[in-house]
Amino acid sequence: MAEKKVAEEYTIDDLPGVGEATAEKLREAGYDNMMTLAVASPRDLAEVTGIGEGAAAKIIAAARKYADVGNFETGEQILERRKEIQKLTTGSKALDDLLGGGLETQAITEFYGEFGSGKTQVMHQLAVNATMPKDKGGFDTDVLILDTENTFRPERIVQMANFRGADPDETLKRIHVARAYNSHHQILLAEKAADETKEYQARLMIVDSLTSHFRAEYMGRGSLAERQQLLNRHMHTLLKYSTVSNAVIAVTNQVSARPDVFFGDPTAPIGGNIVGHTATFRVYLRKSKAGKRIARLVDSPHLPEGEVVVQISEDGICDVQNA
Ligand code: ADP
Ligand code: MG
Repeated sequence: MAEKKVAEEYTIDDLPGVGEATAEKLREAGYDNMMTLAVASPRDLAEVTGIGEGAAAKIIAAARKYADVGNFETGEQILERRKEIQKLTTGSKALDDLLGGGLETQAITEFYGEFGSGKTQVMHQLAVNATMPKDKGGFDTDVLILDTENTFRPERIVQMANFRGADPDETLKRIHVARAYNSHHQILLAEKAADETKEYQARLMIVDSLTSHFRAEYMGRGSLAERQQLLNRHMHTLLKYSTVSNAVIAVTNQVSARPDVFFGDPTAPIGGNIVGHTATFRVYLRKSKAGKRIARLVDSPHLPEGEVVVQISEDGICDVQNA
């Protein structure tokens, strides 16, 4: 007798009303798992598959039974989980202090700023730090990096590892990098990361950059809703990973000039409310003189706003030496 499948083993082909041709059209349009179907609108599905809206609604209803939409937890369970929270050093004591001790696990920390503001440098530094022993502020863990802009440089890891007294080859072995070629690929890689956890548990996941593909692919007002929906799904995959693996999630984001802002800093992180509400910590990076960067904590749920200055050099991210 065939063994009964558990919910996760079902694919979209198992849904009533989904034949081979429909399944293929769904996959092509990015509806490749129960969750994306469960939260889809009948109209969108009807459009991409050519089936009627009524049939589409039935597929959605069936997918909802299989999708892992999450569960309720007691306050006690949440408190237990929050006791496990750990903090990863940035390499700068000043920046760690601003963040209340470093980047928290079970949360998403976003670094945003203009091109060249040092976001990718901070990501490299975090990757090195996470592999370091616990008594040096590290997690002694493997690291996952989703590289969307092809800016990962192993040479930079070697420089930073050497400065911290870590073995550069061992450090590189623990950093697993995947290039994401477009936003759907990026979403799938983040979902796949949860599977990788079975082989080695990565307690730091980096997405550099979170938004560049989404921004490039979904231009104009007409596609904004779709972009935000996909970005929302992606952010929640990351958040889920952060709680399941007790991991730090560090993401980067660009700024876009906002024509509607006339006073103050005329820049804002892209991704709108979706990114803003899902990222627990937001750090705004700005260029200053001589390799210095100003890091500003924005919108933290339990820490005061503030600014610190850090130094970027060949050695990585450090405090500014007041010689
Ligand atoms: P972003 O990701 O925000 O666009 P980056 O993190 O790539 O910016 O920052 C690039 C900057 O980092 C360079 O302009 C330079 O100031 C600094 N930087 C990069 N590599 C080195 C290095 N080896 N030594 C010193 N500074 C460096
Ligand atoms: Mg960058």
